[in-house]
Amino acid sequence: MQALISLYRNRLAREKGAVKKDWGGRLAVALAYPNHYRVGMSNLGFQVVYHLLNRRDDVAAERVFLPEGREMSLYLQSGRPLLSLETQRPLEAFHIIAFSISFETDYLHVLKILEMGRIPLLAKERDETHPLVMAGGVTTFLNPEPLAPFMDLFLLGEAEGQLDAFVERIRDAGHRSRESLLMEMALGLESVYVPALYRPRYLKDGTPGGMDPLDSRLPPKIKAPRFQSLDAMVSRSLVTGPDMEFGDRILVEVGRGCGRSCRFCAAGYVYRPPRSRSPEVLKKTVQEAISSCGRVGLMGAAVSDVPGILQITRLVVDAGAGFSISSLRADTLDDELVAHLDRAGQKSIALAPEAGTERLRRVINKHLTEEQIAKAVQTVARRGAFNLKLYFLLGLPTETMQDVEGIVKLVKKIRHHMVKASARRGTMGRIRLSVNCFVPKPFTPFQWFPLEEVSSLKSKQKWLKKAVETLGGVNVSLDVPKWAYVQALLSMGDRRVAPILLNAHRLNGNWKTALRASETNPDFFVYRPRELDEILPWDFIDHGIDKSHLMREYGLALRGTESEPCRVGECKRCGVCPDPGGVQGGVSR
Ligand code: SF4
Repeated sequence: MQALISLYRNRLAREKGAVKKDWGGRLAVALAYPNHYRVGMSNLGFQVVYHLLNRRDDVAAERVFLPEGREMSLYLQSGRPLLSLETQRPLEAFHIIAFSISFETDYLHVLKILEMGRIPLLAKERDETHPLVMAGGVTTFLNPEPLAPFMDLFLLGEAEGQLDAFVERIRDAGHRSRESLLMEMALGLESVYVPALYRPRYLKDGTPGGMDPLDSRLPPKIKAPRFQSLDAMVSRSLVTGPDMEFGDRILVEVGRGCGRSCRFCAAGYVYRPPRSRSPEVLKKTVQEAISSCGRVGLMGAAVSDVPGILQITRLVVDAGAGFSISSLRADTLDDELVAHLDRAGQKSIALAPEAGTERLRRVINKHLTEEQIAKAVQTVARRGAFNLKLYFLLGLPTETMQDVEGIVKLVKKIRHHMVKASARRGTMGRIRLSVNCFVPKPFTPFQWFPLEEVSSLKSKQKWLKKAVETLGGVNVSLDVPKWAYVQALLSMGDRRVAPILLNAHRLNGNWKTALRASETNPDFFVYRPRELDEILPWDFIDHGIDKSHLMREYGLALRGTESEPCRVGECKRCGVCPDPGGVQGGVSR
């Protein structure tokens, strides 16, 4: 036990910005990230929620992570329950355990953390002596159902703007019974989803038939609000330290959402409308970050699309500081931005053509031509010997072998442009392909498509790897199709997937056996194309996006036709922007 306490105290001592409070009279929240410390602390959303909770005087929020390495061994040897980082208290001592979940692949870790904290895994097995267990984060507002039996409640939507109201409701509810508190929360806040108060219905063919509230006062739909004025809220990492990924830099959110509307991308839909920080606020935040750290990570779904981004990157390099960018679009990459990346010491640049042919890029609504890709590569290679990382998806809807061959042809052309543009300099960077399997996601126009069969993905991967290797000087990394299968199950499944998840946990992560033992055929969720008029497990969540808009986009995809990017203030096509004429601060939906 002492060794664990020392380990956590040493970790805290190496951090800057952690908050440690006395618990007296405060709501004690264990803010849990279902992955290791170094990973969780690089998640800006997790950091922001930690800050938002702790800036309140009536809350003491402490962090909890999945242990790894020596830390895990110490738990196993000592048999002690999982402890929080700040005051090394066991999870069961907190009033609330709040998970922040960004990836379906972390669902097993959620169960592991509860088990290590000695908290019953199923909500129905918990009583007044246990903390409330809740979850938020993007996967929970895409589709909470595979996690439903494990959570007392979900807080759906973007956390900023609703955390205060949530805390105040809990605080004002006083010492009610668990049951009455959950009902009070579900009735009082439109973004609180208490799974035990809703029963899913299924039709004879096994497809979902809807979600029935168990009390007539409960809303049939739960809203997932978004916070509109990014300027009003801190959006930078406030805790830094050497033991975390990106611990050498302050992460700054420059914008949220992306108006390009790629049809496979959930972030492009549930974070609508695209929002940017105003140039003045962004400049101030970046200046603060430079003076406290000297390196900035500019975060966002489409950083190079953010208005005024060049002034920001110029500000950083002129100050002699460094920066990294989480995402670049080939069509907005110009000489000056590349020069700034060069001056900042960036060694590699990532571009995401996603598909190898113009046709398939139109299907996914990428708005990126081969000419634009070539221009971007020339811009990069002329400036310096940057390594180029290229992202592609395999198994996209309507993909044929011609499209897979198209990846190889495109990479060959990119390599040719790099060689030519680097000729005068004599050195050029390397090309690395990162090829992931397409996994369908809720609330996107591709939510009706299935995952491509694992066997087919494997043979495409095999072919692609061999073909790329013949190009010479190009490395390729591929993900594992069987994990794409699990991810699709957890993304697209309903509450009937929860027992499979529980079994996989009990089998120490042996998905193969858990999938085989399942009473419900998991292929039903993963490989079955959904009918357009089918009720989907997540239809009871209201993001403000018209399902008819997603259907239209689905139809356009099948015809290989692109649709216009977002025109905030001018359009109301998808239903998210109700009133052309501007987006003001506050919470919508
Ligand atoms: S209404 Fe138009 S601008 Fe607003 S999010 Fe939808 S597509 Fe984008």
